[in-house]
Amino acid sequence: MSETATSLRLSIGGMSCAGCVATVENTLRAVPGVSEATVNFAEHTASVTGSAPAEALIAAVTQAGYEAAELRGAEDEAQKEAAEMAHYRRLLRKTAVAAVVGVPLMLGGPLGWLPALSTPSGQVFWLLAGGATLFVLFYSGGHFFKGAWKAFWTHNANMDTLVALGTGAAWVYSIAVTVFPGLVPVLAQHAYFEAAAIIIALINLGSALEMRARGKTSEAIKRLIGLQPKTARVVRDGREIDIPIGEVGLQETLRVRPGEKIAVDGIIIDGHSTVDESMLTGEPLPAAKKAGDEVVGGTLNKSGTFLFQAKRIGKDTVLAHIIEMVRQAQNSKPAIGRLADRVSSVFVPSVLIVAVVTFLVWFNLGPSPVLSYALVATMTVLIIACPCALGLATPISIMVGVGKAAEYGILIRKGDALQQAGRLTTVVLDKTGTVTAGRPAVASLLPAPGWDETRLLQLAASLEAGSEHPLAEALIEAAAARGIVLLGLTGFEAIPGKGVRALLPGGVQQIQEAAGLRQVQAPGGAAGHQVLLGNEGLMRGNGIDLGSLGRDAATMAARAETPMYLALDGTIAGIVSVSDPVKPDSRDAISRLHAAGLRVVMLTGDNRVTAQAVAGQVGIDEVLAEVLPAEKSEQVAALQARGEIVGMVGDGINDAPALARADVGFAIGTGTDVAIESADVTLMRGSLHGVADAIAISKATVRNIKQNLFGSFVYNSLGIPIAAGALYPLFHLLLNPMIAGGAMAMSSFTVVSNANRLRWFVSGERRP
Ligand code: ADP
Ligand code: MG
Repeated sequence: MSETATSLRLSIGGMSCAGCVATVENTLRAVPGVSEATVNFAEHTASVTGSAPAEALIAAVTQAGYEAAELRGAEDEAQKEAAEMAHYRRLLRKTAVAAVVGVPLMLGGPLGWLPALSTPSGQVFWLLAGGATLFVLFYSGGHFFKGAWKAFWTHNANMDTLVALGTGAAWVYSIAVTVFPGLVPVLAQHAYFEAAAIIIALINLGSALEMRARGKTSEAIKRLIGLQPKTARVVRDGREIDIPIGEVGLQETLRVRPGEKIAVDGIIIDGHSTVDESMLTGEPLPAAKKAGDEVVGGTLNKSGTFLFQAKRIGKDTVLAHIIEMVRQAQNSKPAIGRLADRVSSVFVPSVLIVAVVTFLVWFNLGPSPVLSYALVATMTVLIIACPCALGLATPISIMVGVGKAAEYGILIRKGDALQQAGRLTTVVLDKTGTVTAGRPAVASLLPAPGWDETRLLQLAASLEAGSEHPLAEALIEAAAARGIVLLGLTGFEAIPGKGVRALLPGGVQQIQEAAGLRQVQAPGGAAGHQVLLGNEGLMRGNGIDLGSLGRDAATMAARAETPMYLALDGTIAGIVSVSDPVKPDSRDAISRLHAAGLRVVMLTGDNRVTAQAVAGQVGIDEVLAEVLPAEKSEQVAALQARGEIVGMVGDGINDAPALARADVGFAIGTGTDVAIESADVTLMRGSLHGVADAIAISKATVRNIKQNLFGSFVYNSLGIPIAAGALYPLFHLLLNPMIAGGAMAMSSFTVVSNANRLRWFVSGERRP
């Protein structure tokens, strides 16, 4: 049985250390049909895409010595969480048992409680201590030995190998000197049971603390899942009943009362209200909604009550998409993380070699008792060397960073985009809908001699009826507001970046009277008149004389309006000027970008004077105006050629090539439309503050990753030589293996805690 290419989520058990990540990933990738597999060590999950069935993947992972289960929905996730909770408690119990044996033995030595090995009663005592420690190794440390054994049989080595070797060697040596004290010189007659027990206690404690801290890193996704209400109130056969959310069907009518969460996505059919969408979009102000407006599942109805029709349910809702996107981004690794994984995968085998060398050097060149020193140094190397912190460093920060961004309505598609956003040097903003509100309205009408405002608007709006441009909407709305009836035009044609053209049929009287027209024969045979609407370039290209209107247009443009000329049969009929006010917070957001050291460029097809006026209102540095839609991505490329790292912000549809071309593409979503494929980052809230926030979060996250990597690198690169005895020749300093155990336990906990600091990130936006 094979499935179509899909993505699967598996929970992976038994990954004790970062070195396992590469093993599991390679195992999954080797399964036929798998196109990509990534393991998230921070979450203990794997995402697999391809056609391989889940059973084959689970079998392969099990074969490699780990556990796997498919995560299908919320219940599986809850189950995984419950299993983790149980695991956490088990770790604490194991820690306690190991400590009960280890702590008295550790304190007893220096305090002089314990008998010497050389006496018969001492020997009995130490044999009992050895038995208790063996119990600790089994009960508290059994998972290390099991893991090491499995790894051994699959020709791998991991953290379990190191811990099992270190503590196992300590126990075997200690039991040997206990039974046959005569084998070693008096000075070396010392058992290391306490070291084995304490190391096991500390490493278990470290894992438990790390697990607790890790739970907090996935808070963002839990919060999103928690937004989904459990039940919905549907209207069936005229009665309202509450049913589980999973049973809501498409097109069903749902009732939402004040203060209730909206269950699924749909369109209001009756009633009106305000809806708080901040949980999805980060937009603090509630949105007014009336019949015909879209509502999104998971958002909160405030004051009114309304009926809506379900349009998207289950996996298709905006919320489900957001959860999926956040999850995928959390699981993706930026370049910096892939490097760390590669390092940790060769780390353990290298450490084994270092350990052998350490033993040999101490045994042959060390002071006496050579065997004790050699054992202690080797054990310490094995214990301190685990690269856990190194493997956690990147994924744990990415998880928190991506989750934090989602809280601000910023959906990041990939870890790479998160890494890149902080490196941007230039941000390119599309004008319409990005800097401005994108809801242009007619600002002024200037008829040429012989025309009046109504006729001018009537003809212009009739022409735009065939266009999807935002400017077209403005004209059609204005005409409707004045009760103007639109004329039927034929042969409509859009001229991208310039305007529109069509034919006015011969018999439309009112217009012809206004303009004193003769009938002409249009191309294609239909009798009619050529009508053109668009910018100066369009007029000039058609050899139309602007007369004195050119100066009026310049005045309008200087007021940040977009003037469009209407021409009928080659003669100017007037100017329709449209204004699209800038978003109230664009200026603040742009000054935040400046403060972050970025250059802000505006890119638009609009005329230069209008563009300059808009740029002036919001404080933009550079304007690239009168750019044809097809040239936008070339402009981005030109900036890149100048050495800039370019972020492009646009409204997604017509800016797609430029968004894809940019180093980081930011799509302004409308809050409900998250299926924007060409962008690396989707801003759910229309505000440019999202760009500044995304950049700030990126910088904070990358800084956090670097701290983590630096910390773990320093830990391992200083810890191993010190453990091996590098300081001994000069300072007579040799690390106690129990301190190594503590350091190793703290290293991953420190990394996770450091990543958790990212949760306190706050936007630099000043909110009222
Ligand atoms: P933007 O970069 O703001 O999205 P476009 O490239 O779509 O702008 O359009 C550039 C200019 O071309 C507009 O400012 C307008 O003058 C003219 N234009 C484009 N489409 C139309 C249209 N449908 N009606 C009138 N003018 C248009
Ligand atoms: Mg545009």
